[in-house]
Amino acid sequence: MNDQVSRLGDHSGPVLRTPLPGPRARRTVAEDEQVTSPSLPRAYPCVPVRGEGCLIEDADGNVLLDFNAGIATNSTGHAHPRVVAAVQEQAARLLHYCSSDFYVPVYAELCARLAGLSPFGEDARVFLANSGTEAVEASLKLARRHTGRPNVVSFLGSFHGRTYGSVSVTGSQHTYRDGFGPLPPGVFHAPYNDTFTHPDGTRTTVPGYLEDVLFTRLTAPEEVAAVLVEPVLGEGGYVPADADWLRGLRALCDRHGILLIADEVQTGCGRTGAFWACDRYGVTPDILLAGKGLASGLPLSAMIARAGVMDWPVGTHGSTFGGNPVSCAAALATADLVTGSLAENALKQGAFLLDRLQHLADGPHVESVTGLGLMIGVTFASARFAAEVEAACFRRGLLVLQAGDRTVRVSPPLVLREDQAATGADLLCEAVAACAAAGIR
Ligand code: PLP
Repeated sequence: MNDQVSRLGDHSGPVLRTPLPGPRARRTVAEDEQVTSPSLPRAYPCVPVRGEGCLIEDADGNVLLDFNAGIATNSTGHAHPRVVAAVQEQAARLLHYCSSDFYVPVYAELCARLAGLSPFGEDARVFLANSGTEAVEASLKLARRHTGRPNVVSFLGSFHGRTYGSVSVTGSQHTYRDGFGPLPPGVFHAPYNDTFTHPDGTRTTVPGYLEDVLFTRLTAPEEVAAVLVEPVLGEGGYVPADADWLRGLRALCDRHGILLIADEVQTGCGRTGAFWACDRYGVTPDILLAGKGLASGLPLSAMIARAGVMDWPVGTHGSTFGGNPVSCAAALATADLVTGSLAENALKQGAFLLDRLQHLADGPHVESVTGLGLMIGVTFASARFAAEVEAACFRRGLLVLQAGDRTVRVSPPLVLREDQAATGADLLCEAVAACAAAGIR
């Protein structure tokens, strides 16, 4: 059995035993759909039962190449032995104790580690929660409480989560909001990467809308507690921020005493080739949010803030499960691996993949191929084409996922090897060619 386990991760690509989905997968899907919430946005009938490295085994014994990493959560790959060992050791010692009320050593150890990894260049404090949306909620509360200001600015195309505060700042699709109103007030959405066209026709990407429209017509900047931004739009289509625009946002926040919150739930923990995407841009926020890959797939998120900003008094915020010891142990092992070599590997394999996929943009069906590290988006001419490519990849045993209006995202585990990157790129190109040949528009 061990022999079989060690062989799964060694594959350079998919090994299909049945057409996808196979008979067992079909049965699981049918049973699942009887009892699970119909709100779940299942992408395609993938039924994973085991994983190792960048490979997944499904219910029918098919081996699938995972370019989703469980939506950017399995940062160190599936079942990394060092993460598994850390989890097992911590689980055998102490499964849970509430760190909001008591002092669990591994909680403080992880907070110290994350404070040390923070980009602030000054003392930081850390609050741990279970999910990305909770980190976002915490940051909205902290920003309002610290500044005493009511309003928040976020961006069109952004995704920050599904709880009430987070969905109020989300600006990617109305589906997330429809029927749930009224949402919390005090939120203004601005264009992401907004471009200013000069009289001579040249263009600069600056956050001009905020000064020119929002702060003139809708709210005084002195009423704004925070600007919340993803350094790369995640669910919104894997759109990297323009560096000048992000720097402009920082300068604008400084001018008006507004806190800059970087939502690095999807971009953080090595995915873009540095521990934080902000490091790649050289832009320092006041509050940084992490989740998803932080604990290699175990539920954990973090709000990391300049110590002077995290000044809320005792009792104002907490969480029963946030910073669960097993998740913290997984996060410490993950941080060791990411700072050890995986962020660097993300940079290297990301450049390799981008290079292999770039030629797609020469064809009529692909609008652009963009990315930062192992966060690559292929944007197609239509939503239908993107959907068909996603399905064609699945049929070939490559797992990718749509994002934004018509993008397919590539976000493999950071342990991706070059042979696996090459296989995945070939399969994606093959899927695009097959969709084009089928006359899909
Ligand atoms: N923020 C960003 C940038 C995300 O991509 C997501 C999830 O996709 C969230 C927040 C919400 O995280 P969660 O689903 O863990 O609540």
